[in-house]
Amino acid sequence: MEKKQFQAESKRLLDLMIHSIYSHKDIFLRELISNASDATDKLYYHAMQQGQTGILRDNLPITITLNKDAKTLTISDHGCGMTAAEMEENLGTIAHSGSLQFKQENEKQDDIDIIGQFGVGFYAAFMVASQVEVISRAQGEETAHRWLSDGTEGYTIEPATKETVGTDIILTLMEDTEGDHYSEFLEPYRIQELVRKYSDYIRYPIQMEMPRSRQKEGSDPEKPEWEEYMELSTLNSMIPLWKKSKSELKDEDYNNFYKQKFFDYQDPIHHIHMYTEGSVTYHALLYIPSHAAMDYYTKDYEKGLALYSNGVLIMEKCADLLPDHFSFVRGLVDSADLSLNISRELLQHDRHLKLIAGALEKKIKNELAGMMKNKREDYEKFFKSFGLQLKYGAYVDYGMHKELLQDLLLYHVADSDKMVSLAEYVEGMKENQNAIYYACGETKSKIELLPQMERLRDQGYQVLCLTDNVDEFCMKMMHDYQGKEFKSISDDTLDLETAEEKEEIETLTKEYQQILDTVKQALGDKVTAVQFTSRLKSHPCCLTTKGAVSLEMEKVLNQQPGEQKIHAERVLELNAEHPIFDKLKTADSERVGKYAEVLYAQAQLMEGIQLEDPVAYANTVCELLV
Ligand code: ADP
Repeated sequence: MEKKQFQAESKRLLDLMIHSIYSHKDIFLRELISNASDATDKLYYHAMQQGQTGILRDNLPITITLNKDAKTLTISDHGCGMTAAEMEENLGTIAHSGSLQFKQENEKQDDIDIIGQFGVGFYAAFMVASQVEVISRAQGEETAHRWLSDGTEGYTIEPATKETVGTDIILTLMEDTEGDHYSEFLEPYRIQELVRKYSDYIRYPIQMEMPRSRQKEGSDPEKPEWEEYMELSTLNSMIPLWKKSKSELKDEDYNNFYKQKFFDYQDPIHHIHMYTEGSVTYHALLYIPSHAAMDYYTKDYEKGLALYSNGVLIMEKCADLLPDHFSFVRGLVDSADLSLNISRELLQHDRHLKLIAGALEKKIKNELAGMMKNKREDYEKFFKSFGLQLKYGAYVDYGMHKELLQDLLLYHVADSDKMVSLAEYVEGMKENQNAIYYACGETKSKIELLPQMERLRDQGYQVLCLTDNVDEFCMKMMHDYQGKEFKSISDDTLDLETAEEKEEIETLTKEYQQILDTVKQALGDKVTAVQFTSRLKSHPCCLTTKGAVSLEMEKVLNQQPGEQKIHAERVLELNAEHPIFDKLKTADSERVGKYAEVLYAQAQLMEGIQLEDPVAYANTVCELLV
């Protein structure tokens, strides 16, 4: 028997393959099963061409046999097999793909799902095996051949016997080392796990003897005895759910698949099943979870969709398929059009991937918008879990995603149990209203108690209650909705006063400038200005801000690590109608100073700001009480 050498380049390539192309050794199984599936597809295709009927895919299983004593793992198929010449060509020449040739020679058929194309997958076997034996009998041939190699020097081909057409690939696994446990590939449960992970949707049954236990025959039902036995079982589910037609599937099917696949104990709140043909053809099955995963809002969370090519898993989490603002979506994409790199693990810079990602983003947006309209309760539940992510999305990247996301946002409204979208807010705006009002605070009920709320409440304006850190930043980034500017009720440019009121304030300011000056003097740098306001009714004073930074933003920014403290420019606004003002008018300047401190402290407390010196405040109140 003549020993043939691998070609020189092939040897180097083989070395490279074994050591660098694949990041996980366990994908050898995926590659060999894919080859077996390709070979079976080819046989099936030829049979169809020759008009043979009655061949069923179920009768063409791929079988895995484990032999712990001999340390072998065998993968057998009923595919087209290989002649000696084909063995030489396909297995002796690395990077020669018989499957690619087959694809090129035969017109694209819907029914054929050939996976191979690079001509290297087979050699992944040498990552785990010290010897690979291939016994194959080609379709229409009486004799079979054996190809044998240890992957280093070369290979031999000799005649062999084989009862049926097809191929057996027998791997003798390497000895375990400290770091690598090749014997794990002799464990039925490990193999089952790998088949389910990578090859679950191969269209032929992948079968293996699995250990089972049963009650011993004749054993006492009161004290049953158990025995172990082996049973030939199909490991893969074969038909990918996403390739079935929607009419065949019930919600329950989708939900069960989701729970099993994505390890969630709760049903998803919504699923999206799509098939797109055109410049890129793909199936996608997406889910909106009903709750955020434990690690969702942490750095540990990894976004992404599972990516399949012809039913074979390429990547468990392809991050490029999902934008950050929809990172909560779980699901998968299956497309034969993607240009995979040689290890079929990573994608080369792929135009199709971008097209798919763009289409999915639009689809997710539309589905969420539809849900908001037609399944409001579900949407609000969804928003509770993931609304924060949408708001971040609208804020980041300089508001680039505003157009996409603004209609998905919901807000609580003061004095109401309902949440509204921006569109609903604008629809409900009063005739003379030209801004969208919001207020910030720790909770909705605290916001409702803000002194500034009174005026808006009286005038019948709806006020959005913002309680998340990102909220006000997001409002500032979005700037407006349908041309209606977002305005904080604590902004000094709120401009709700009538001309008369403005005039009145001017008069008051002229008349009592001195009191304002004394108050300002007592408070020093703590406030930028002290002025009269008409926005208050029953309260004596409130705090507002000038400029870009509001009190809420100051709070959030100062929670970030860093020395630099940010200060909002505070304005103390006084209500001249309040009885306290009568006191200010008659008190001496020392007492006015004390009143000023108390009023300022109260205004801060109402805004949820902690006092810098609570003891000084308590002392001043006492002094005024005695
Ligand atoms: P690829 O699958 O990408 O073509 P491989 O290195 O895995 O590359 O396989 C090389 C070629 O060997 C295949 O294209 C196919 O022609 C042949 N081959 C591999 N495994 C089998 C098999 N089980 N039955 C028949 N032919 C096979």
